[in-house]
Formats: sequence, C-alpha cells, structure tokens
Amino acid sequence: MSKIMFFSTNGSPERVDFRQAILMGQAPDRGLYMPEEFPALSPEEILRLKELSYPEIAHQVVRPYLGNLIPDATLRAILADAYNYEVPLERVFDGKYVMRLDRGPTCSFKDFAARLMGRLIQYFLSREGKNIVILTATSGDTGSAVAHAFFGLDNVQVVVLFPRSEVTDRQRRQMTTLGGNVHPLAVEGKFDDCQALVKQAFADPELGHMNLSSANSINIGRLLPQAVYYFYAYSRLANRDGDKSEGKAGGMVEGEEGGLEEMVISVPSGNFGDLMGGLIAMKMGLPVRKFIAATNENDEFPRFMKTGVYDPIRPSRNCLSNAMNVGHPSNLARLFSLYGGRMDEVGVVHRMPDLEAMKQDIFAVSVSDEETRQTIKDTYHDHGVILEPHGAVGFAGLLRYLWDVEDWSPCVSLETADPAKFPEEIIRTIGVNPPLPRAMADLDRMEEHFAEIDNSYQDLLDYLKRRFG
Ligand SMILES: *Cc1c(COP(=O)(O)O)cnc(C)c1O
Repeated sequence: MSKIMFFSTNGSPERVDFRQAILMGQAPDRGLYMPEEFPALSPEEILRLKELSYPEIAHQVVRPYLGNLIPDATLRAILADAYNYEVPLERVFDGKYVMRLDRGPTCSFKDFAARLMGRLIQYFLSREGKNIVILTATSGDTGSAVAHAFFGLDNVQVVVLFPRSEVTDRQRRQMTTLGGNVHPLAVEGKFDDCQALVKQAFADPELGHMNLSSANSINIGRLLPQAVYYFYAYSRLANRDGDKSEGKAGGMVEGEEGGLEEMVISVPSGNFGDLMGGLIAMKMGLPVRKFIAATNENDEFPRFMKTGVYDPIRPSRNCLSNAMNVGHPSNLARLFSLYGGRMDEVGVVHRMPDLEAMKQDIFAVSVSDEETRQTIKDTYHDHGVILEPHGAVGFAGLLRYLWDVEDWSPCVSLETADPAKFPEEIIRTIGVNPPLPRAMADLDRMEEHFAEIDNSYQDLLDYLKRRFG
C-alpha cells in the first residue's frame, strides 16, 4: 500500500511520512505538517459506515494515511483500545443534534485525539527503543487528555504548561493528580503565552538532545483522529429515526443530484484543530453543506472572514469557554494551506487563501459570553439538554446560522466537554449541579503536584534542564 507524505505549511520542500511527522510534531521550518493528498471514501463506503462501530470507522479513515507503517491487526487493536467509550448523538429538536464527545477518561473531546496519538507514538517509540519528552501547552483540556494518554509509559515524560488562573479547579486537578511521568507546570500567563513558550523550546538548539515532541493540536497525530467523528456523526444520522415533525422518513438519503444528503456541522473553535479535522473529513468525501466555526469573543477568525484582514488578539480575551481563549489559533496555518494560502507560525499572511471558497464551506461566527449563558438556559429549559460553555458556543453558532440561512439539512453541533468540568458556571446559570461522571468521581479529594514558573522562557529552560538534563 502506498503511503501519504506530509509537507510543512511554511513551504520547505522536504516531505516526511506519518511516523516522522508524528514524532517530530512540528516541521523543522516551524510550519505544521499537512497531508499531500486526502484519500477519498466513495459514497457507497460512506453509506456503509452505519453498520460499523466507532473503532471500525476510525480504521477506514486513518488507515490510508499510514500505508504499511503499522500492521493492520495492530492498528485495529490500537483503535479498539483507544475508543472504548460511548459517542452519543442526542436530539435537541427537529433534526438538530448534539454529538457528545465528552465520554472519554478526561471528559473532553481532546481524548479522541490524545488517546490515539499516544498509542501511535508509543508504538513507534517502543520499536525503536527511544525516549521522548512531550512538551505541550493547554488552555484547559489538552493537558489532561495528553497526560492521561501517556501516563505510566516508560519511554515518555510529559510536561504540560497551563495558564495558572485560566483553568477550572477540576481541569487543573485532572493534570496535577496523576504524578509519575506527568509534570504539570503552572505559567503566570495566558494560553497563548504557554503556546509561545513551547514553540520557542522546540526551536531551541540547546534542547535538541532532549527529543522534544509536541502533543498540541499542531501534531498531525492529533489532527487525523479528529476527522473520524465527523464520519461517525454522518453514519449515525443515517441510522436515525425519522423526525416526525418534518414528515420525513429517517436516514440519510440520496440528495437531489443523486449524491448523498448533506449535513451541517457546528464546531466550537479555539485553536481550530477540531474544525481542521472536519475539513479533512470533507476533503475525504464527507457530504457537508456547511461548517460553522463558532468562536467566543476571541473573534479574530470571524473578523478575518468578513474583512480579509487577519489581526490576532493579544492578549486573548478571557471568556467562559476557557479552552477556546485563543487569540492566534495555530491551526489557521493549516486552514490557509487547505485553501491555497500561506500563514506562518506567528500569524503573518504570506499568501491569501481563496476567501470565497472558504466562505462557501465555512460560516464563521463569534458568540459573546452573554449569548453563551442564554443558550445554556434556553437549551435546558426548552429541551432539557444541559450544555457547558463550549458546546453552548457551538449551539448558539448553529442557531445564528439557521437564523441567517434557510437550511433543512440535518444539523450536528459538537459538545466538546462534560458540563461537570464547569460546575460553578452551570449552577450559576441554570441552578443545576451537573452529575459527576465516574471518570471524575475522586478528583476533588486527590493530592495535587505541580511546579510554577513566570511567563519567561529562561524559567522554562531552567526547569527542563533541571528535570531532564
Ligand atoms: C480545546 C477545546 C475546544 C477547542 O478546540 P480546538 O481544536 O482548539 O478549536 C473546544 N471545547 C473544548 C471543551 C476544548 O477543550
């Protein structure tokens, strides 16, 4: 089987395979890796997904990118082990669904990416007898998902940088109560500062001997797994019962031109890795009418779509949906590349993407904290569905789109975290204490361990040298 090669968004001519891309994290020219091609699933293959389990769907989507880097039986076993939890599609009202991506061990959608990436990295490393330091920045949920995915592995150390006062207690505890090979680092700064420190460390020759690897959504190993649940959503819509209110029979049917019926997907977005996963799925043949890129008040992307001018927000605004407080999303470099443009790692646009084509595929919208709270209230009172702030930004974005455009396609909005990660806010907004999932049951009682640094590269350097030589 031929394998797909990956190029850097910053334009250097080198190509690497998936193994090299996942172990390096970031390209040597500081760009992000992108696949050179997107192997398409045929309409028949897509319709047949409704008969498959989540791990089987993941196999269909991920397999072509790996060629024969991993034996097929091993890959299937890895996928079955990574995806051993539920992925419910919950009806809110007429053809509008919420897909709950919050049933993994750390209760956010980041488990989908981290668990597969962790297992793939472990597979490659253990065969080569190598050690590695994973250095990652988190706005709240990546850190715990990555830490859990690598916890207890002999050849991996994990350092997680998080913004000291911008994560909730439970988000922090999910990182700081593990111990072992997991080293959380509270930074006196914001997520963008953490991300900048990590990027600087990767570019630092003084740390070259440490075998640093990134587990941020800049790692391609995090991105490809995020294409899977879009196919899964489609396959489960294909299984759904008819929405009687619409007088329609259930299931995805052939669309007007004989192709597959399309769906609308709303993605609450921060660093834009989740949306990139969706766009990759679309490139692979998934019939999507429109993606809604819903941001909180960090609205640099919706403004770009409106004006064609990219103006990062520094410092990022502190909103309720804290995992989306990103003033310059790393994955815009990939998004631009997908539409023929080029953006470098600090956000300078070297070549404009095809803005019209982007608008064709993506409806971008910024949702205020006030609207986020109102959406949590309305969705609970009108439909009995509890959303947390990130999922609410997505759902509010979907409603805004439907307000603007008459569209009867089935709609899926992503719920990216469990409401129990944000109990203070949910109680304040709807007076309900969200039920604590089993995965988080003991968290509030466990002992925490973490180090603290200023927002200073020298501090990070000292810490890394002290710990790992
Ligand atoms: C990380 C995160 C997001 C944003 O996803 P991106 O891929 O960074 O756009 C949304 N919701 C939650 C709960 C998250 O943890």
